[in-house]
Amino acid sequence: MLDPDAALKILEDFEFTPRVEVVPTGEALGRVLAEALRVRVDSPPFSKAAMDGYALRSADGGDRYRIIEMIAAGDVPEQGIASGQCSKIMTGAMIPEGADKIVRVEFTREAEGWMTVTEPEPYANIIERGENLRAGEALLDPKVLRAQDLGVLASQGYATVPVSAVPLVGVITTGSELRPPGEQLASGQIYDSNGVQLCAQAQAMQVRRRNYGAVPDDPKRLAAAVDRALRECDLLLLSGGVSMGDLDFVPDVLKDLGAQIVFHKLAVKPGKPTLFARRDNSFVFGLPGNPVSTFIIFEVFVKAFLCRCMGITSEPRVVSGTLAETIKRRDAKRLEYRPVRLEGRQVVALSYHGSSHLSALREAEGLIRIEIGTDRIEEGSELDVRLL
Ligand code: AMP
Ligand code: MG
Repeated sequence: MLDPDAALKILEDFEFTPRVEVVPTGEALGRVLAEALRVRVDSPPFSKAAMDGYALRSADGGDRYRIIEMIAAGDVPEQGIASGQCSKIMTGAMIPEGADKIVRVEFTREAEGWMTVTEPEPYANIIERGENLRAGEALLDPKVLRAQDLGVLASQGYATVPVSAVPLVGVITTGSELRPPGEQLASGQIYDSNGVQLCAQAQAMQVRRRNYGAVPDDPKRLAAAVDRALRECDLLLLSGGVSMGDLDFVPDVLKDLGAQIVFHKLAVKPGKPTLFARRDNSFVFGLPGNPVSTFIIFEVFVKAFLCRCMGITSEPRVVSGTLAETIKRRDAKRLEYRPVRLEGRQVVALSYHGSSHLSALREAEGLIRIEIGTDRIEEGSELDVRLL
């Protein structure tokens, strides 16, 4: 059994250069920026008014100024400001030569071409050229692009951005007992929930996905399906058939198809039989069929690998909280990820009856880690919760 953190390190350190494609900035939400980008133009590109008001020379210090011009956003001022003069100016407009202060309109009165200051203006109200960003400095490093990042890119004139190609993730569920939701169950059968669940987890990561459906526990049919999916996909997710039962054909089928097993069996709970293999430039996870295991192993291991494929390091969002009730466990040989919910700062471990108890995940908001060797965590302990 491989140490789960060692397995994570293998996944995160995989040498992988994602293909880069160029997409319109407006369509890059959720995509991974493929290379560091620099500031193209000073921001703002010219010194501009932060307020509607009157641009003047602060050294004048007087109360009455002759208005020589009106400057709107987008205008280029035609006249410089001399002593005793001002220009009426709108927010975002270029500061005229000679002016170093905007008296906001609320602190003034205007009549017959003259402006009178009615209240002292404490601020300059000017945003200097390059005050926010200077041309040439770092703008964005590779990361998942959010709405505000796209705004920043657009503000810098980037009409397109280089992003990592989106991997195609295939999903095959294995098990002769599986029926697709919508069909009638015969006795001994269950619905295939992992197919939908794994595709949804992949969708949440903005990757392309292809659900190949369920394949019965028949090595020939499994081999045919896996071979095709490995040729078509960057990453294949298999659920079920990966442990020690007579009908668990996944490891042998993969070997027969020429895949190299990178690891099989992790000291993790749930999800001990987890397998990771590679054939050429395609990768495959063999995930346990029990749906809680499938879910958690995707969350922790598959996610990390998919991030790697897209050129980023996965950084799960973590909050800290206080354990609501003492946790005890008999077997402390494996690292355990336990689903929890949050009540304010209180961390409540979900009572779940093992890895087939999928409905327990309805309430899950996060996962806690119980380390190898830890058989008890006291009520009131401070814990990190990895948010789902
Ligand atoms: P396995 O890993 O194939 O031994 O399956 C472990 C358990 O998970 C068995 O009870 C299976 O019936 C169940 N299971 C396997 N695949 C699925 C699936 N796609 N959806 C829901 N349950 C599954
Ligand atoms: Mg099975």
